[in-house]
Amino acid sequence: MNSSVRTRFAPSPTGFPHVGNIRTALFAWLFARHNGGSFIVRIEDTDVARTVPGAVEAIMDGLNWLGLDWDEGPEKGGKFSPYYQSQRLSMYKEAAERLVAQGNAYYCYCSPQRLEEMRADQTRRKMPPGYDRLCRNLTAEECASKSKEITPVVRFKTSREGQTAYHDLIWGDVSFENSTIDDFVLLKSDGYPTYHLANVIDDHAMQISHVIRAEEWISSTPRHMMLYKALGYTPPQFAHLPMILGPDRAKLSKRHGAVSIIEYREKGYLPEAMFNFLTLLGWSLDDKTEVMTRRQIIENFSLERVSKTAAIFNLEKLEWMNGAYIRSLNADDFTQRALPFLEKGLPPEIKRPLDVDYVRQMMPLAQERARTLAEVPGLLDFFFVSELNYDAALFIDKKTDKPTALKALEVSKERLLSLSTFEHDSLESTLRPLAEELGLKTGQLFGALRVAVTGRTVAPPLFETMTVLGKDTCLKRIAIAIDKLRNVTG
Ligand code: GLU
Repeated sequence: MNSSVRTRFAPSPTGFPHVGNIRTALFAWLFARHNGGSFIVRIEDTDVARTVPGAVEAIMDGLNWLGLDWDEGPEKGGKFSPYYQSQRLSMYKEAAERLVAQGNAYYCYCSPQRLEEMRADQTRRKMPPGYDRLCRNLTAEECASKSKEITPVVRFKTSREGQTAYHDLIWGDVSFENSTIDDFVLLKSDGYPTYHLANVIDDHAMQISHVIRAEEWISSTPRHMMLYKALGYTPPQFAHLPMILGPDRAKLSKRHGAVSIIEYREKGYLPEAMFNFLTLLGWSLDDKTEVMTRRQIIENFSLERVSKTAAIFNLEKLEWMNGAYIRSLNADDFTQRALPFLEKGLPPEIKRPLDVDYVRQMMPLAQERARTLAEVPGLLDFFFVSELNYDAALFIDKKTDKPTALKALEVSKERLLSLSTFEHDSLESTLRPLAEELGLKTGQLFGALRVAVTGRTVAPPLFETMTVLGKDTCLKRIAIAIDKLRNVTG
């Protein structure tokens, strides 16, 4: 066990956490847990204009739902408190001033308007964008006089020659030409740091050993390396996780399922299925294993097995996996979890709270079929409604005409009426031979009964369904079906 491992998840609360963000958190968490290290949550809320109210709560909610517990961070505190960057502003200011004093950074007085014009000019002349270093060599006197009129920003004095390289635990050696990196801003005129400065200061201050984050940050890493060097800090190790794409290989978007992680909970995904599924977005145990326990994943997780190739987010696979997890729950657990979905999803006219004993009987029928908990009400609603709403045409198909269906229902009704026990075996031993007696295929007879008792052609197994509905309800529904069918023309 290597307890010096410290990883962090550093979300900006500029929106609700989607699957991509949470995959980043998950991998950082797994690496910490695998190594017996610490997992830290740090809120990077320095972009005041883009901060979304409620985003921090949604992030924590998402992490909690998946069981990604943090050792230090919001609500929890820790020895490097506070864990909100907006509460650490003096540290960034101090660092920026130190860099200016050391000659690694400078004050820039360019107005937003001038920068705007500069950018437009660069675009026109097809030049790479970037600050033109106008203020880089101002004298102390010039600075003092400009400071009277305008609050400057602090920019890093990027070296114009050479390369900046770093070793990525996933991408190997990565190197950038310094000439492609401009004199980026460290401290804005409102006193807030930029991402680059705050990120480096905090990763150092919080003794982060491994920065595990999304691929999109690779291009920021040389800036961070320059800052570590200028500040005299030893940089952490870096691991950039592969992108996540939709099945059409386009950037993951809402239509692929890149929605807030909390929406998955509301749609009835199990956290353990989501956990397992997200783990496979970039990591694998081997070339074939898909369903794994949390323990197994923690034990086997390694950055060596994180791929560089973009991961494909496949909603159908998630549904399949969720279904597999649903089926692996014990009956009580499933009932517990599905009950709130049933309470919420059944039509409003059905009396609440639901009769839990009755619910318990039908739950196994849903557990066998549901891919999500939100599907449960749709699978079971016919157990609750007082009147089924369906079209009598459902009784009639290529093989079954109206008289045949009518006869099947009428005779079934009689036979069922005389049954003293109404459960799977007695139903089967009555109805199977009846089909033969009537010269029907079992499918025809069972099909007619299925429509009569559930109002649909696709439903859970017939005998189990009838058992749960009970004799009275079944007979009542068959009688209604007979009436409906009599009134149908054809
Ligand atoms: N605040 C950045 C984000 O929202 C953090 C990136 C990093 O992990 O360095 O993704």
